[in-house]
Amino acid sequence: MKNKVTHCRQQWAVGHGFFHTARVDVGGRVYRYVYDCGSTGQGVLANQRANEFLNVEKLYGADRPDIHMLVISHFHSDHVNGVPNLFLLFNVRRLVIPYLATDAQIIALAHFASLGPDAWSRFHLLVTDPRAWVDAQNGEGNTEIVQVHGDEGDDAPQEESAPPPFEDGNGFSLGSPHLSKQPWIDCPGAPVQISDTAPVAIFNAKRSVWTFRFYVQDRPTLENLIIADLLNKLRCTSRGDLLKNLNEQAWIQSNWETIRGCVKAQAPKEQNKTTLCMFSGPKPNHTLRETRLSFLPHALRYPWMSARNIGWLGTGDAELADAGRYQSFENHYAGFIEKTLTLSIPHHGSVENYHPKLARIGRAHVITASAGDAKHPAPAVCLHIQSECGNPLVVTREGWTQLFECFDMEFSN
Ligand SMILES: [Zn+2]
Repeated sequence: MKNKVTHCRQQWAVGHGFFHTARVDVGGRVYRYVYDCGSTGQGVLANQRANEFLNVEKLYGADRPDIHMLVISHFHSDHVNGVPNLFLLFNVRRLVIPYLATDAQIIALAHFASLGPDAWSRFHLLVTDPRAWVDAQNGEGNTEIVQVHGDEGDDAPQEESAPPPFEDGNGFSLGSPHLSKQPWIDCPGAPVQISDTAPVAIFNAKRSVWTFRFYVQDRPTLENLIIADLLNKLRCTSRGDLLKNLNEQAWIQSNWETIRGCVKAQAPKEQNKTTLCMFSGPKPNHTLRETRLSFLPHALRYPWMSARNIGWLGTGDAELADAGRYQSFENHYAGFIEKTLTLSIPHHGSVENYHPKLARIGRAHVITASAGDAKHPAPAVCLHIQSECGNPLVVTREGWTQLFECFDMEFSN
């Protein structure tokens, strides 16, 4: 028996920010996932693109479609400020976020506080109490929350063993029986934690057809400059004390400008500690039937019309310039890198996050940035990618730069 699968994914034009959406249509059953939703400022452009996404998905039937998995790579405004709108427009069934230890929470809260009391009040609970934050968005308690943490002992996970199948053998599984229930009702509990080696897959007739692989990069630093600065300037006695204060509205009101000073003083280093990367792609037992691309400027530059491996790899804000960090990333994605066609270059193409070996991963290198910003993407990064394999695809705020990829395939059982 043959299973037809159609996969379409879109990198939306939000300028400096990130909004990636995808659908996996398995014989008429549609699964949607999103990786980040945000843009600079108040997120106006991200909200506009999310509305366009809704209009497209409405064509397939539902007035209020499901997002089966919404992944947030890291807690920066330009990656999350469109997320509340997604909760308004869609049924978000599952929110997947990186697990943050104390230092990472402090850095994330300082980031939102540095943008002012409004940004802080919109997002601080997402950092410290994601269940409360999600319930405030949709009030229905039907979004499952999954926190992914790094798995230090095992840097080179194998292709997964199958997660437990659902009763009818179809669905979106995160490899834990607790998470296998469908439909997603009654999941108001505390966030569930999984390792970034946990198998995550879409199943059809008890066979997995689509696979995801997370990777959490934690950046341990002996001396965290922002935190040292905050402790000093805000006269906090300990990290615990600082974290408690960063959760209190009155304290934020009177201290946010000092916090902004500390965050800016240490830019561009150490503005984020933890990033969740994600690979998404078909299981190997498929035959590719057709590849469709649209938005002409990019289609013209695509050198890989006959590519067999069509996976996507999102790197969020991973810092991969350091050789050791790059190596951990590559080890973790052993077996997945070869299946990658489209790679998002970390942190909008900044030099601080770029390793030359990234240019060898996949054949389409996507950078999201506003055109004309001298630092994002860095000319050196673009030139290096060009010297290796072709043109970096810079998706700006202009609609015509959007990247749309669509693949038809067949699975043999
Ligand atoms: Zn960003």
